[in-house]
Amino acid sequence: NTNEMEIRFDSRSENEGFARVAVAAFMTQLNPTVEEVADVKTAVSEAVTNAIIHGYEGEVKKVTIRCRIEENVFVVEVSDRGKGIENIEEAMQPMFTTLPEQDRSGMGFAFMEAFMDSLEVESSPGNGTIVKMKK
Ligand code: ATP
Ligand code: MG
Repeated sequence: NTNEMEIRFDSRSENEGFARVAVAAFMTQLNPTVEEVADVKTAVSEAVTNAIIHGYEGEVKKVTIRCRIEENVFVVEVSDRGKGIENIEEAMQPMFTTLPEQDRSGMGFAFMEAFMDSLEVESSPGNGTIVKMKK
């Protein structure tokens, strides 16, 4: 007995707020606490920002978010078909960034890990990235 939704939008920073709110709205059917909603919004923002700036490097393409509610567990997947990640383990280290010159602090994955109950990253260079999180 699962409930699912999917949204697809242009990789423009204006759409980050939309993505965050759409996910939060879908999540309300679980009667989450204010804190749980805030955590999911933060994690989704980080993943969407990464798809926009790293995955597509500022080019406008599509970002997809899939959400699923499975026996009271909230699952969200943020994916892009961008450049992908060469070394996932290294990328997930706190403070690792490939864009230090753009004032990135390399904390996105660390926040996703901290704010969500689980985080899995699948990526292949040239094919894109899927970030799967549960709460
Ligand atoms: P911050 O999130 O603090 O602004 P950041 O985005 O560099 O900095 P993370 O979000 O932790 O830090 O990501 C670490 C690194 O992983 C990025 O610098 C980038 O090289 C790579 N990365 C993350 N997401 C993607 C993606 N969707 N596509 C390609 N590379 C990615
Ligand atoms: Mg980031």
